[in-house]
Amino acid sequence: DELRGEDNPTPGSRQVPGYAYSRVQPTAVADPHLLAWSDELAQTLGLERPAARGPEVEMLAGNRVLASMKPFAARYAGHQFGNWAGQLGDGRAMSLGELTGADGRTWELQLKGAGPTPYSRRADGRAVLRSSLREFLCSEAMHYLGVPTTRALSLVGTGDAVVRDMFYNGNQRPEPGAIVARVAPTFVRFGNFQMFAASGEMENLRALADYVIRHHYPEFGAPGPAVYVPWYAEICRRTAVMVAHWMSVGFVHGVMNTDNMSILGLTIDYGPYGWLEPYDPGWTPNTTDFGYRRYAFGQQPQVALWNLARLAEALSPLVPQPDDLRAGFARYTETLASTRYRLLLGKLGLTHRAPKEDAQLFNDLLAALEEAGVDMTIFFRQLSHVAPDLLATADDEDVRFQELLTAAAYTPFPNAAYASLLAWLPRYLTRLRQEPAAPEAIRTGMLAANPKYVLRNYLAQNAIQAAEKGDLSYLNKLMQALKTPFAEQPEYEEFAAKRPDWAWDMPGCATLSCSS
Ligand code: AMP
Ligand code: MG
Ligand code: MG
Repeated sequence: DELRGEDNPTPGSRQVPGYAYSRVQPTAVADPHLLAWSDELAQTLGLERPAARGPEVEMLAGNRVLASMKPFAARYAGHQFGNWAGQLGDGRAMSLGELTGADGRTWELQLKGAGPTPYSRRADGRAVLRSSLREFLCSEAMHYLGVPTTRALSLVGTGDAVVRDMFYNGNQRPEPGAIVARVAPTFVRFGNFQMFAASGEMENLRALADYVIRHHYPEFGAPGPAVYVPWYAEICRRTAVMVAHWMSVGFVHGVMNTDNMSILGLTIDYGPYGWLEPYDPGWTPNTTDFGYRRYAFGQQPQVALWNLARLAEALSPLVPQPDDLRAGFARYTETLASTRYRLLLGKLGLTHRAPKEDAQLFNDLLAALEEAGVDMTIFFRQLSHVAPDLLATADDEDVRFQELLTAAAYTPFPNAAYASLLAWLPRYLTRLRQEPAAPEAIRTGMLAANPKYVLRNYLAQNAIQAAEKGDLSYLNKLMQALKTPFAEQPEYEEFAAKRPDWAWDMPGCATLSCSS
């Protein structure tokens, strides 16, 4: 009620000047059936797992809308790949409304793929199983890794076929459709603000800022000109924390357009994302971005800042001295550096700080990892065992280091590419020996900082291929493994394996398009 909504939108896709959202109705699907469910999130929300078919699942597919639900699609704009794209909006997402969880917090529940909205442009408002499963799995995996993220409650098959023009198929083979119900305190993006600023809708701009502050940043008190500057700096801080976590676990978002940046600093819109396997700052899975690699792994810190600058421009009409917003850039840069430092210290089992030495040690590590192209997750996980072992035993360092690199290597060992990393390891060990903690405590700390299980691209692809054939057992097992990514889980050892040979060039495993 605090924002202007269009109540009875005329049918069809179009510009919607003057409004923050449009009331919409989902379009029913043929045969909604539950494919996956997130038990823990459901508990937080006070919901119980529904039967595979029935009224609850019909709700999660948009076939049944309760009287208390007021579905809406939000109007937003954005910069896509650095270019202004004008009005975009929720073209295939619609929020059913908010619910209050068992924890007393308020959560927005959004269906993705529930049919067209005024913002669908030329597209169908639908999502395929492949992309919905990827969003469902990854949002939950990120949550369990401790990365700020939106969540996913359910994955529902629609029984309808959806046609996508895709690299994945090479043709227009119909694919099974699916709908994810995703959950977040709010799905407001940078792009919602950009929309109003670009079209000069100052009342809407202020109302949206005030709405977000009142409901999602209550610590700032009553919204107003004095609050916008520190609020913006807080958005910068949260965004920095999010990106630092991405860098720490090897996550590549893949399409960091400003319409895909959450105002809460949550990872949002899982599309052509991927996980680093060989450590490579230039890597992106997004085929649309193979030319410029704007959204490659190593670009993410600076792209987030670029996006924050676009948000600052959008907010500047609200601020008496727009230059004051620049304080947010500094907040971003400092927070990113300090959070990355803290996370990397943790990954290396270092508690005692030696900032001067550490900067050199860390930079050399990242350069050496890139040179060696070893598997990022396996390298850090193995190091969590090898380093404490070497502190505690008389094992031969060279032998253990070679074992470690062999386990993480994608190219034959020995190899000149590993020279820097082999030279780095003894330096690191010397630094680790200065730690006051006992080797076992170091091991425990490192194991809690270096996940064994991440959503490797080929694992998601395996889950998709099985699910498309009606077999959900792989998806369920994988989800289970990803729930405790820092624990050793011998029964799920297969999910910790390096990228297999077959997955190197396979669409879905190493290459994904925006419509993924
Ligand atoms: P994305 O790159 O996924 O963030 O999407 C960019 C824009 O395209 C957003 O406005 C989406 O709502 C819209 N969009 C993507 N896929 C579809 C689809 N199948 N139907 C309608 N709109 C879509
Ligand atoms: Mg998006
Ligand atoms: Mg998307």
